[in-house]
Amino acid sequence: MPEYSISQLATFEECALQYRFIYVDRIKRYEEGVEAFLGKRFHEAMEWLYRERAFRIVPLEELLAYYEKAWAEKWHAEVKINQKERTGDDYKLLGRRFIEDYYKRHHPFDEGRVLGLERYIRFPLAEGSRYGCKGIIDRLMLAPDGPFEIHDYKTGSSLPDQAELDEDRQLGLYQIGVQTLWPEAKEVRLIWHLVAFDLEMRSRRTPEALEGLKAEIAGLIDRIEAEREFAPHESALCNWCPYWDLCPVKKHLVKVGALPRDRWKDEPGVAIVDAYAERWRKKRELEAEVKAVEGELDEIKDAAIAFAEKEGVQVIAGTDARLRVTGKDRITAPGKGSEERQALELELRAAGVWDEVAMLDAPALEKAVAEGRWAGDILDRIKAYVSTEKRYTVTLKEDF
Ligand code: SF4
Repeated sequence: MPEYSISQLATFEECALQYRFIYVDRIKRYEEGVEAFLGKRFHEAMEWLYRERAFRIVPLEELLAYYEKAWAEKWHAEVKINQKERTGDDYKLLGRRFIEDYYKRHHPFDEGRVLGLERYIRFPLAEGSRYGCKGIIDRLMLAPDGPFEIHDYKTGSSLPDQAELDEDRQLGLYQIGVQTLWPEAKEVRLIWHLVAFDLEMRSRRTPEALEGLKAEIAGLIDRIEAEREFAPHESALCNWCPYWDLCPVKKHLVKVGALPRDRWKDEPGVAIVDAYAERWRKKRELEAEVKAVEGELDEIKDAAIAFAEKEGVQVIAGTDARLRVTGKDRITAPGKGSEERQALELELRAAGVWDEVAMLDAPALEKAVAEGRWAGDILDRIKAYVSTEKRYTVTLKEDF
């Protein structure tokens, strides 16, 4: 039975290509974001704190020393810090603060009985399902008043709102797992410890919501199983992706970035992009110029029409060119979709002349009215719907 973890499903939704690198091609990478590194160290400290709790309450200073020792021992060259102005020590101090806040809020850590720490669970998605799910519950507890509790530590810096947590797939899926593995867990509480905010948030799932979640996850797994293309999807998450050297949307950037700046121009891809960018900018400048000139021409055209009308001329002489200004009355029919348009069409049909201007072709209507082709009463009725406006054509002739 194919088994999927919640992080595997989330990876597919975020970027199918990264999913392929990790779960299909199984390409190992040791690079990790400092945020993930901090998260792991925080989880380890909590696991140790609650393991020791069976025997004693670990003093805060000892817990912090445990955390700092693990930080130093596990720090490696491939921990990536995206915020250039920050250092590893900044993040280490941040983690210390998370531990201190958590410790003060939850001391003496006796809010129920610990059922499992970093508990690995595997279970079928639903009875008779072709798919299985797996995951690791940070802390599984039995509350003093009876319900099971799934506790999850979040060290991220973005605060989810209640609606997001009520929709959260990870703990919802864990609840399905817990209730499958321990049928006595009739009631389950989902609890998030948002340690960057020293905040605890909770949610519950109705049986209907869990059924909906099973169907949603089965649908997503169907999509994954049918996937053949594994297209890259660029997003802010690329900043934490360790596969840039393999990804078609990033690998040329990696290649060029590795060259000294003064050799960029010699790289064939860079030369193509530079040439393209130069022409594209030039085209944009020219288009802006054309637009400006078109605006000027429109203004001059208006001036020419006014001059021709005032002077009673059709041709205006210039130094080395002439402008011909021709005015013509044009019939304007009401706009498509308007009530007047519908009424006019009915009128034309009633008068039996519709076929002559089929689809209310404005030039055909104009010609019929201008030629006085129809009887006077028809024309009078039609004229109620149309207006006449003078349209000018201004043509330049360079023949001097
Ligand atoms: S760099 Fe971005 S687009 Fe490329 S594989 Fe990684 S997450 Fe996907």
